[in-house]
Amino acid sequence: MSETLKILVVDDDEVDRMAVRRSLGKASINAEVTEAMDAREAIAILTDNVFDCLLLDYRLPDKDGLELIQQVRQIGMKIPTIVFTGQGDEQIAVELMKAGASDYVSKSRVSPETLDQTIRNAIRIHHAELEAQIANEQLRESHKLLLWKNQQLEQQRQQIELQNQKLLEVSRLKSQFLASMSHELRTPMNAIMGFSQMLLRQYPDPLSSPQVDMVKRIFKNAQHLLTMLNEVLDFSKIEAGRFEVKLEGFDLGKFATMRTEELRCFAVEKDLRLEVNVQLENPEIVNDPGGMRRVLVNLISNAIKFTESGYVRIDLWELGRDRVAIAVKDTGVGIAKENLQHIFEAFRQVDQTFTRKYSGTGLGLAIVKSLVEMMEGTITVESELGKGSTFQVELPRFIGKQKETYHTQSVNCY
Ligand code: ADP
Repeated sequence: MSETLKILVVDDDEVDRMAVRRSLGKASINAEVTEAMDAREAIAILTDNVFDCLLLDYRLPDKDGLELIQQVRQIGMKIPTIVFTGQGDEQIAVELMKAGASDYVSKSRVSPETLDQTIRNAIRIHHAELEAQIANEQLRESHKLLLWKNQQLEQQRQQIELQNQKLLEVSRLKSQFLASMSHELRTPMNAIMGFSQMLLRQYPDPLSSPQVDMVKRIFKNAQHLLTMLNEVLDFSKIEAGRFEVKLEGFDLGKFATMRTEELRCFAVEKDLRLEVNVQLENPEIVNDPGGMRRVLVNLISNAIKFTESGYVRIDLWELGRDRVAIAVKDTGVGIAKENLQHIFEAFRQVDQTFTRKYSGTGLGLAIVKSLVEMMEGTITVESELGKGSTFQVELPRFIGKQKETYHTQSVNCY
C-alpha cells in the first residue's frame, strides 16, 4: 500500500489523538489524518468526505463507538473501522465486531506496528468483502436471469408439447379419415368392377367394339383406383398397429415367380423384359405370405411403372444358411441421390407435381418398409438417375419362435 490513505481519527482526548497521530507518522503506511472530537463531528466529516479507514475511540462524549458504527451503517456508508477499547472491554469488542467494526485495538497497545498491521488487515478484508459482495450481486443477477430463461424455456416447452398434441390429434384424424374413406370407397369400386366384368361377358346382349373398349377402360381404371385405396387402407392399418404378421411356411422361389407372372401383362404392355432368376438351394422359408405378396407386388409394379425400356429382373439367392435376399432390378428412370433418403417416407414421391407422369399414392414404399421390418428383414436401394434402380430385401429364413421349432413338412405354394 504505497498510496496515501485517508484516515479519520475520532477521539475526544487530545493526548490520545496525538499518540495515534504520532504512531501513524512512524508507521510504514502513508496516512493523511483528519480528526474529529465526537460522533456528531465525525458524521458531518464522513458525509462530505471519503476515507479509507476510520479509527474510533469507543468512549465518545455524545455517543459510544457502537452507536456511531450503527449510525454509519444506517446511512449506507461502508468503511473499514478500527475501535480503540479500554482495559477489560473484551465483551464490548465482540459487540463492536458484530455491529460491523473491522477490528479493535486496546488503547494501551497503540504503536506504529500495531496500527500499521491492523489498518492494512482491515483495508484488505474490506476490499475482499467488497469484491465478494460484487461477485454475490453478479451471481444473484445471473441467477435471476437463469430463472427467467428457465421460465421462458418452460413456456416454450409447454407450447411445443401443446402443438405436438395438436399435431398428433390432426395426424390421428387424418389416418382415421383416410381409413374410413378408403373403406367406404372400396364398396362402390368393387361394384363398378363387378358390373363392368359382367358387361364384358357380353351376355345375353353383345356390345359393340367401342363399347367393349370403354368398359375395359372402366374396369382397368377401377382396378387402379382399388389398388390405391388398398394401399391407403394398409397404410392406416400399419400406422394404427393393426397389421399382424401371420406365419406360414412356403416356397419363396415359386411364390416370387407366381407374383411376377401375375404382373407380366403390365410389362408386356410396355414391351419390357420381365425375368425371375431363382438361385435358392433351399427355397423354403417361414414368414408372412400376405406381407411378402405386398412387398413383391409393390416393388415389381414400381419397377415396371418407372421403366420405359429394357428389363425388370427379380433375383433370389441365399445369404448363408439362415437368410435370403430378393433384389428387384430395373433399367428405368432411376432416383437422384438427394431423393433416395426420402423415398421410404409416407406420401413421398420424387415428382410431387399434379402434372406428374407416374400416378400413385406415395405410400407403396412406406408400406413395403414397414412390412419388411415386421418380417424382421431389411430393405435397401441403389439407384442411378437415368440408368435404373435396385431394391434389395433381406429376410431371415425363419422368424419368431419358428427359428427353433419349425419343421419343413407343410410347405405351401400360393
Ligand atoms: P408411388 O405410389 O408414387 O409409386 P412409392 O412409395 O411406391 O409411391 O414410391 C415413392 C417414390 O419413389 C415414387 O413416387 C418414385 O418417385 C420413387 N420410386 C419408387 N420405385 C422406383 C423405381 N423402381 N424407379 C424409380 N423411382 C422409383
